[in-house]
Amino acid sequence: MKSFAIRSYLDAITHLNNLPISDQREWFFHPGMLFWSRAKWWADFGTRHAMHEGLDIALFRNRTGRIQWLDTSTRVPAMAKGEVINVCSDFLGRSVIIKHAQDAESRLVSVYSHIAVPSAVVPGTRVNKGDVVGQIADTTGKKSGIHCHLHVSIMEIANEITDNEISWEIMGEPDLKGVKLFNPMI
Ligand SMILES: [Zn+2]
Repeated sequence: MKSFAIRSYLDAITHLNNLPISDQREWFFHPGMLFWSRAKWWADFGTRHAMHEGLDIALFRNRTGRIQWLDTSTRVPAMAKGEVINVCSDFLGRSVIIKHAQDAESRLVSVYSHIAVPSAVVPGTRVNKGDVVGQIADTTGKKSGIHCHLHVSIMEIANEITDNEISWEIMGEPDLKGVKLFNPMI
């Protein structure tokens, strides 16, 4: 189980936030928002420093036919049942790491980034699918001028890496020792 069915997750975001989405439930992704892309979708639309470690969720078509951005009012649901094992900083906000399964070598986690995290969400917090783990952070004031969005990653992280060692130092390219990334779209 390395997939949490992205369609179902996008529906969870829609329902949790009562998004005024079109009947076709259309979401849009710039190529740079996709997993393992090297492209930026902000600022100069140039090249990222590293391959994209996940999926950026930000754009849907609303009922008037317009493309609409998620914003800081968007609450972020957990993809599946699990336990919060760390909360760390990322370059636009905070990231929550949830463990869903574990074997002798590694654990399967989902990561939610560039969000504001409520004080009740801490390591040890147990969550069910759909529980709120945060809210999209305001990133518009950052130097990068990057629009508000939710980054999600799905990874296996080796057990030798302790829960509180998990940060973007180890989850980010290019130094992925003990970390295996999966495409959240498949
Ligand atoms: Zn991202």
